[in-house]
Amino acid sequence: MKQIFFPLIITFFMGFMSCQTIGINEDKIIGVKIYDHEGDLSILFQDWKNTGINTLFVSPDLARKQGFMELARQHQMPVFLIVPTFFKQELLDKDSSLYAITSEGKPAVEEWVQFVCPSRGSYQLEHLEYLRSLVQEIQPDGMSIDFIRYFVFWEKVYPNHTILDLPRTCFDDTCLIQFQQIKNIEIPDGIVSVSDKATYILKNHGDEWADFKCTTIGNYVKEIEKVIHSINPTTIINFHAVPWASNDFDGATRKVAGQDLRLIAPYVDYISPMCYAHMVKQDAGWVKRITKDMKNQVPDKMILPSIQVGKAYLENELSNIEFRENLEAALMPPSSGVVFWSWDALALEPEKKRIVKETLESRK
Ligand SMILES: [Zn+2]
Repeated sequence: MKQIFFPLIITFFMGFMSCQTIGINEDKIIGVKIYDHEGDLSILFQDWKNTGINTLFVSPDLARKQGFMELARQHQMPVFLIVPTFFKQELLDKDSSLYAITSEGKPAVEEWVQFVCPSRGSYQLEHLEYLRSLVQEIQPDGMSIDFIRYFVFWEKVYPNHTILDLPRTCFDDTCLIQFQQIKNIEIPDGIVSVSDKATYILKNHGDEWADFKCTTIGNYVKEIEKVIHSINPTTIINFHAVPWASNDFDGATRKVAGQDLRLIAPYVDYISPMCYAHMVKQDAGWVKRITKDMKNQVPDKMILPSIQVGKAYLENELSNIEFRENLEAALMPPSSGVVFWSWDALALEPEKKRIVKETLESRK
């Protein structure tokens, strides 16, 4: 079905984009991520238009604000809803049995990052229903699926780290049972503790374990696509990818995050790596490298890097020069555009907003 719809979707979407009156970079998505806004929405839309923004990635709460979707239609700005998948703090606060479990047998929590186990059928169904209700209620142009991976706080993974520094999940009973059934592998009876089971699996069946994780995520993306397109077959799907190239950290994108782009690509239109270079101590060359690597993995997909605007996690400032370099890198082929994380950060820094405008105008 997807193969039939895909060209239609793109034709529709590009047609939609080319109708815009902003006149800059009509072939590329120039997006912002924004989660909330107090104040006049008309001024906000005008500000986006003046800056050269043509696509919005927003929280369902913001999209529900009185007049938001109408203004988006008036300004011909497609709206994607950003929806977290396995990052569900409120749910975990209520039901701690849903936590993903680390190789030490502990709940998967690091600072604010805490993950639901990706194998729980009841949670998966509940979340699919939630997505269905969002598409029905808000009728967005796109869905931007976020936190769809196994637990990892990648925002604090730096170039000097190795895979040994990264968390390995999920070793709760559900994942362990499904893994053994699907892969026809039996953990020996004498191995009892979660940490011993994890050690046994990673040492003896590492490849099967990575395959199991990637298949779990890929299958769920397939379910998500089915539900979204059952309501509206033209809804665009964007996938938020951990910003690691396929061989970085010994293949951690598959082994740790469970994101195998080749398994995900058939069900999405865009792959959007979160190329927040500054926070992970990388530079503009890295933004280009990640974008290229992902395009090489899935050549028929559009790669849409998202870049960092304000400082986060680290104390040192993200300078205007660095921001400009990252922006230019993000816009280079084979990229399909750029998404700024976040609009709030951009709104706070008029000089960076000016850099965006200037960079986009220079590309006309
Ligand atoms: Zn699990």
